[in-house]
Amino acid sequence: MSNQNFRSILTGSFSTPCADNPTVAMIEAAYRHAGIDARYINCDVKATHLKAAVRGAVAMEWAGFNCSLPHKVAVIEYLDELAEAARIIGAVNCVAIRDGRLVGDNTDGKGFLASLRDVVDPAGKKIFMLGAGGAARAIAVELGLAGAEHITVINRDAAKAETIAALVRDNTGSDAVGRPWSGKACVPDGTDIVINATSVGLGDAQAMPEIDLDTLAKGQIVADVIPNPPMTRFLREARERGCTSLDGLGMLVNQGVIGVELWLGKTLDAGVMKQTLRDIFSASDA
Ligand code: NDP
Repeated sequence: MSNQNFRSILTGSFSTPCADNPTVAMIEAAYRHAGIDARYINCDVKATHLKAAVRGAVAMEWAGFNCSLPHKVAVIEYLDELAEAARIIGAVNCVAIRDGRLVGDNTDGKGFLASLRDVVDPAGKKIFMLGAGGAARAIAVELGLAGAEHITVINRDAAKAETIAALVRDNTGSDAVGRPWSGKACVPDGTDIVINATSVGLGDAQAMPEIDLDTLAKGQIVADVIPNPPMTRFLREARERGCTSLDGLGMLVNQGVIGVELWLGKTLDAGVMKQTLRDIFSASDA
């Protein structure tokens, strides 16, 4: 009898479309680097097949999976348990399977927070956030749970900004307001951290959210969720004004690290993951 093990740990992602999602390359590079015999299978799962896919993952004893668009809310009805942030946010993008039980979490905001904590602890800080989509919602809730003092959310559709502010006020110890965004946004005096959580800048190095750059203050932390290109025009302009910049690549990498910690209890090498994504993004720009 051979004592070799030909059975890999299975993890992966359910979304549609999925072909342009580079997470599989990032995570499998880090599995190989760590000598972990695990696979990350990038699955195209249509909405009508989500339940079957989740049951399949349990049946095949997967350790866990990510779910991305359009499944982040729909997957909740198939889970046994939700982590606190996922419950407040109302969306799940990471599911761990433990003894057949499905536990949902949301790593969007946690990935951002892990990046942010490399430069500053958000506790007691005043935050100005552009955008009120899914990423903004997850980030705002995590910042609230992390003890931010105040969060201002601005959005073209002001109702979405107020919904997020209310979520933060009702579920965390932080104060928050939602405001309409029309014309050039001005960063309020006393702001510690400015975050672009809109999709402006994705795939366009010259695009920038409408903001009065003269209201940025030297020493402020300015973060962008855009992973590609990592150095957005917003971050470049902020750096020229003496701000500390934080790119969206770190958020993406940290989401991968946190996901694998939830699935396997192991911490992958963030540097390997970041370099893999940089190589992929620079190849796609060429
Ligand atoms: P959503 O579609 O849910 O939200 C998009 C947000 O951007 C909305 O608030 C929308 O405003 C705003 N927006 C879009 N265009 C403009 C514009 N021209 N001016 C002002 N606001 C605008 O997307 P997500 O929240 O899911 O994703 C947002 C970005 O975050 C994406 O680019 C995505 O790639 C990135 N992301 C990065 C992650 C990472 O790990 N780095 C993880 C998740 C997302 P309105 O409501 O008024 O339309």
